[in-house]
Amino acid sequence: MGRPYTGPLRFRAVMSVTVVGSIAFDQVKTPFGERKRMLGGSAVHFALAASFFDDVRVVGPVGDDFGEAEYAALRSRNVDTSDIEHVEGGKTFFWSGEYGWNLNDRETHDTQLNVFGDFQPKLSDESRAADVLFLANIQPDLQREVREQCVGARFVAMDSMNLWIDVAKDSLIETIRGVDCLMLNDDELRMLTGRPTLLSAAREVMALGPKVVVAKQGEYGAALITEEGLFFLPAYPLESVLDPTGAGDTFAGGFIGYIAAHAGDEPEGHLLRRAMAYGTAIASFNVEEFGTDRIQRLTREEIVDRVDELQRITHFQNAPIELRT
Ligand code: AMP
Repeated sequence: MGRPYTGPLRFRAVMSVTVVGSIAFDQVKTPFGERKRMLGGSAVHFALAASFFDDVRVVGPVGDDFGEAEYAALRSRNVDTSDIEHVEGGKTFFWSGEYGWNLNDRETHDTQLNVFGDFQPKLSDESRAADVLFLANIQPDLQREVREQCVGARFVAMDSMNLWIDVAKDSLIETIRGVDCLMLNDDELRMLTGRPTLLSAAREVMALGPKVVVAKQGEYGAALITEEGLFFLPAYPLESVLDPTGAGDTFAGGFIGYIAAHAGDEPEGHLLRRAMAYGTAIASFNVEEFGTDRIQRLTREEIVDRVDELQRITHFQNAPIELRT
C-alpha cells in the first residue's frame, strides 16, 4: 500500500466556487423517521460540503419563509449568501420524498418550484469571477443562464435528474455541451443516452463535450470515466443510514471542492481519484442524520480519517500465481 503522505501541507490560495441549484425546504420520510420541513436543496448540500475546501457562493432565489436560521446554517460554514435573492411575497422551493427499505430507491411526492418558476439569475461580479462553477440540479435553462455569465471559469461541472430528462431533455443536452464534467446517477445516465451500459452511456456523453463523467451509484459508490480510463470507488461502509437525501450533492461538493482547491493542477489522473475519495467521505457523513445536521457538525479531522479508511479498504496487493492451463 502507498505510504501515507507525511510531508508538509502545501500552502495554497483559497479558490472560489460558485454554485447554482435548488435552495429548498425538504419533507422527507425514511424507515427511520420523518421530517416535515428542513433546510435542503441541491445547492445547499453542495455548498456545505465544498466549504471545507474553498470560498463558496450560492446563487438562487428564496421566499419569505427562508429565515435567519437557514441563512445562519450556510454562514456558519462561511458560505457566501449575498447572491441568494429574496423574492418578496414568494415561497421557497419545496420537495417531498420518501424512501423504502432500499435506500437507493426513492419516490418523489411533490416538487414545488415556487420562486424558481420565474427566476432570472443575475450574478454579482464576485460570483461571475469564480474559478470553478457547479450547476447543481435545477431547470437546465437556468443552469445555462448561469454558465453563460461565468465565462472565465476554469472548470465547470453539472448535475441533473430524471425529471429534467423527462420534461426538458433538449435543453439539458444543450447545457451538457457547455460543461467539462457531468455527474449523474447511474440509471439517469442510461436514461439520458438510451445506452444500456455505463461505458457506452459515458462515451455518448463525452461525445457531447464533457471530458469527465461521474456516475453516482448510491450505496454502491461512484464511477469516474474519462478518456484516460475508469476508476470505481465504493461508498464508505456505514452501519446505519438515516436519510440519503442530498448524498449526491454532498458528494459533488467534496469532489468539485477538491478539484477547485488544486488550481495549478489539471483535473485529471490521480487528482480526480482523490477528489472521488473526498466526495465519498463527506457524503457518508451526510446520510448518517437527517438533512444537513451531520455536515454542520463535521470536522476536518473526521473527513481525513474517512479518506484514509477508504484508501485502506480499497487497496489490495497483487502477487504472482502460476495459473493452470
Ligand atoms: P440528492 O439526494 O443528492 O439527489 O438531492 C436531494 C436534494 O435535491 C433535495 O434537498 C431536494 O430539495 C433537491 N431536489 C429534489 N428535486 C429537485 C428538482 N426537481 N430540482 C432541483 N432540486 C431538487
